[in-house]
Amino acid sequence: MSSGARLLVLGKQGAGKGTQAVRIAGHYGVPHISTGDIFRAAAADGTPFGLRANEFMTRGELVPDDVVIGVVAERLAKDDAVNDGFVLDGFPRTKVQAEELQRLLGPGGLDAAVDIDVPTEVVIERISGRRVCATCGTPYHVSSPPESNWTCDKDGGEVVQREDDTPEAVTKRLELYEEATRPLLDFYEGLGLLVTVDGVGDPDEVFDRVLDGIETARQVQTR
Ligand code: AMP
Repeated sequence: MSSGARLLVLGKQGAGKGTQAVRIAGHYGVPHISTGDIFRAAAADGTPFGLRANEFMTRGELVPDDVVIGVVAERLAKDDAVNDGFVLDGFPRTKVQAEELQRLLGPGGLDAAVDIDVPTEVVIERISGRRVCATCGTPYHVSSPPESNWTCDKDGGEVVQREDDTPEAVTKRLELYEEATRPLLDFYEGLGLLVTVDGVGDPDEVFDRVLDGIETARQVQTR
């Protein structure tokens, strides 16, 4: 395990962001910070904040920027993220969020923004088979289920289909990606931080490409 990194992972829903972000975090020994997981956990706890976020999520809409930014700012202020770094997964999703993140981290605060690039037809097929642990968020697929009877290999939680993986919500999320999130690729390209990785293929191969991309970006920055 290498230590320390400050990274974010971009990509359409179903591009494999979650799977790769968990692996990247393990590799660098930093926390995996997924805004979707934070909202799902709050919704499962039934807090007013979680229930409000869940209304946006089940419609496939974005949670308002100020709410998401507040959650991320609070999480990034914790010791592990301050000392070791982080892998952000699912944040930022809008230009306002990206600009606010730059402001929070300051110049030089990010090592790379990794875009996992997968064609839309492929993500639609993946999302329809996607399953997730209801307690810890570990992702699975009908073609690669957990070892025993749809209980999570990590914590034994129930492995289920996400409530927001209905065809209507998926279509809406892909439209929102094109409109709100795709422009972030130019934003990070302009900052010299964008690492584009071909996300089609075996997750191990994609992970090798991701690490190569991150390490190349880090070398360029320390030159
Ligand atoms: P994810 O697990 O990343 O696919 O996120 C699930 C849902 O949580 C999204 O469809 C949004 O409704 C909400 N969400 C997660 N991250 C963000 C974000 N950065 N901005 C706005 N909404 C978000």
